[in-house]
Amino acid sequence: MHIILAKPRGFCAGVERAIQCVERSLELFGKPVYVLNQIVHNTHVVNSLQKKGAVFVRNIEDVPENSILLFSAHGVGPEQWEKAQKRHLKVIDATCPLVERVHRSAKKYAEQDYTIILIGDAGHDETIGTMGWAKGKVFLVQNIHDAQTIEIPENDYIAYITQTTLSIEDCKKIVDILHERFPHLQSPSSGNICYATTNRQKAVLSLAKKADIVIVVGDSESANSRRLADIARSVGKTAYLVLDATEIKTKWLKDVKTVLITSGASVPEEHVQGVLKFLSNWEPCSIEEICVASENVHFKIPPAIREKE
Ligand code: SF4
Repeated sequence: MHIILAKPRGFCAGVERAIQCVERSLELFGKPVYVLNQIVHNTHVVNSLQKKGAVFVRNIEDVPENSILLFSAHGVGPEQWEKAQKRHLKVIDATCPLVERVHRSAKKYAEQDYTIILIGDAGHDETIGTMGWAKGKVFLVQNIHDAQTIEIPENDYIAYITQTTLSIEDCKKIVDILHERFPHLQSPSSGNICYATTNRQKAVLSLAKKADIVIVVGDSESANSRRLADIARSVGKTAYLVLDATEIKTKWLKDVKTVLITSGASVPEEHVQGVLKFLSNWEPCSIEEICVASENVHFKIPPAIREKE
């Protein structure tokens, strides 16, 4: 079997930073430190931080007063900041700076009295946070049907923003429809879909044609991982999303000569290596890594937990 390893894959700068924020907070303040929601959407990452002393909660009310609280890479709305303040929590903000940029746009448009269209997934942590900054003047558009049917008063100023981890292709189709329906629609000055999402999707799009099947390592909760599998399917390939090697079924590998492997932005590389090991044990494999885009993005952790330089 021939294995193509897509590059870039796995951790993005925002995920790296969020994990560092939790680890550094544990070092500095001791355990427990509390984290609102999953720090990143990967069960393995969450479990490993839990073992080190992080406590994950869904509600700020569950955090004892005067504790340390981290906001996840997906960000939160202003109401969570207010709740944290009321409980006298010391907040370490692990929101990815690229998500924060979208929050700033939402806030700016809301202050200028725009009606905001947010293209994103209902119920996703990032979408919930961004909607908070849009201060109620926001419509969520999840798909083409929503874009075709959404009703906004004609005279409103309208702007759109997006979740950072959307499919580039699907988002473009939605934006085209919105532009057609609302010619005065304002676009973000630079796209909101982040560099890591863009590069991982580009790699799958260009490499999937060389493979019989595609295995995406990623959590089913992870929007960007799910999109990678969807993109492979959109070019006619069978694609499987697996949390790790234990989820692979050997029947998938019958008559398969070439497998493309990639991983979502919240996936530790060890789980990709686990999949490689599983396949190599199944039958002899040749492995080729193909780099489609180079990345050299790193974000600093917040000053409050940075080592003294
Ligand atoms: S996927 Fe993009 S927006 Fe999300 S944490 Fe990573 S770099 Fe930030």
